Amino acid sequence: MKITAFYSFKALTEDECARLRDALHTFGEEHDMRGLVLIATEGINGTVCATNDVMTLWKKKIEEHFGDMRWNDSEAETHVFPRWFVKIRPEIVAIKKEEIVPQESHYLSPTEWNAMMHDDVAIIDARNTYETAIGMFEKAIDPKTQCFQEFADFASSCDLPKDKKILMYCTGGIRCEKAAVAMEKAGYTNVYQLKGGILNYLKESPNTHFKGECFVFDHRVSVDQDLKPSKRYSLCPHCGDPGDLSITCVQCGKSGIICKECSQKDYQLTCSKLCKHQFMGLQKRVVV
Ligand SMILES: [Zn+2]
Ligand SMILES: [Zn+2]
Repeated sequence: MKITAFYSFKALTEDECARLRDALHTFGEEHDMRGLVLIATEGINGTVCATNDVMTLWKKKIEEHFGDMRWNDSEAETHVFPRWFVKIRPEIVAIKKEEIVPQESHYLSPTEWNAMMHDDVAIIDARNTYETAIGMFEKAIDPKTQCFQEFADFASSCDLPKDKKILMYCTGGIRCEKAAVAMEKAGYTNVYQLKGGILNYLKESPNTHFKGECFVFDHRVSVDQDLKPSKRYSLCPHCGDPGDLSITCVQCGKSGIICKECSQKDYQLTCSKLCKHQFMGLQKRVVV
């Protein structure tokens, strides 16, 4: 299966949004595609999974509407999404601040990024903690956001010198389109963004300055340096964050994978929500 992530900030009218939603939804259904596509008056954003042949048709179809696109491609053995969704939303990447409108910004290719990252710069990861926890650029600043809407607050409270060269990155580049503007609104005058994000960077520069794995929002959990589905992480059944700690469940005896944080809580070492529930119930009875 081919997987591709893409976005465009080419504006659409509300009528165009509705027509496009219907057309893309039908196309995907007819071709057994899976994934999530968001359409808004500001543009389109999606990650979709399909066979090789269908993906070629899909790309053609999208480019008919949006012109040339950057496609962040990867591969997996099977579908990586459970279903097919095409939805209309107020934003294609939600920062929930109307004044932040993406604009043509300073893009860096992976080569330019590598050349610049050793200068006197601040590298900022525009992703959330469950993502930064499993992989980041070396020396990057982690804003410790739980969701992207918190990024604008980080930008205004961040106390770097305003003329500092700021290098920003995210998974596929779309969040930086707004995060970079948030930094500029906060007074930063020298903001750059990694074009195509980590996914494009790893294609050109694997096993260099990005360390660890890149979280993705589908069954793969994350991709490794070769953009292959993670062999290391699965989603923790308790909190939904990536985990890589193998355990033997204290309740059912099966093996499972949970995250480090949950392993330190009092329902530690259970393999599922159900086992946790049963285990905690037992504990309570023992105490009483
Ligand atoms: Zn957990
Ligand atoms: Zn269990």
